[in-house]
Amino acid sequence: MRIVISGTFFYQSTNQLLLTNQLSSYQSTNQLLPYFRFLKLETNLAILAQEELEKEEENFCFKDALSNSNSIEIDNIVHALNAEITPAIDCTACGNCCRSLMINVTQPEVENLSAYLSITEDELKETYIETSLQGSMIVNTIPCHFLKGTMCSIYEHRFAECREFPGLHKTGFTERLFATFMHYGRCPIVYNVIEQLKIKTGFIKIAQT
Ligand code: SF4
Ligand code: SF4
Repeated sequence: MRIVISGTFFYQSTNQLLLTNQLSSYQSTNQLLPYFRFLKLETNLAILAQEELEKEEENFCFKDALSNSNSIEIDNIVHALNAEITPAIDCTACGNCCRSLMINVTQPEVENLSAYLSITEDELKETYIETSLQGSMIVNTIPCHFLKGTMCSIYEHRFAECREFPGLHKTGFTERLFATFMHYGRCPIVYNVIEQLKIKTGFIKIAQT
């Protein structure tokens, strides 16, 4: 399979998003499933980091194209990709966001977690929390204290920001391009959604060789 990068961003409507050669090949084999099921999802973190370096210019152009696109259409595509890709990626075998994110913590989360850990709120704050420059509570280590290997040791009681990450289910994808692309080389979900988004929008084409 050969990847051909298009110099321009030419999608006009969601009806034009599937590539003709792929659609016809699915029709011929009676496999009218979303095309990305036929592509391998990349979860190797070393490859993601390398791709981030190699595709810096390409991603810069893609961000620019997305920022000038219809945000509702892009949200629709991102939500569909996210719904397919997220369940296919095992976060418990990754944990990479927990090695790099600064996590904000709320008072109700302190209460919940201290009860779960059977320690006082003061003990929890003293051990695991600090105050950010903005005055909010944050987990005081990166990587996070609660990461054990690649898994969260307080999974059922993890913080809202952990549950929300990487936030591809939210609306306004095109307004968060900088923050989202920051995780392109770190988070397999973000990487794969962006790579598939390039194909869905026609930013790159996949051609059979
Ligand atoms: S609390 Fe759990 S999910 Fe959240 S950053 Fe820490 S290890 Fe990761
Ligand atoms: S959200 Fe992304 S970086 Fe975090 S564990 Fe899941 S795949 Fe890895």
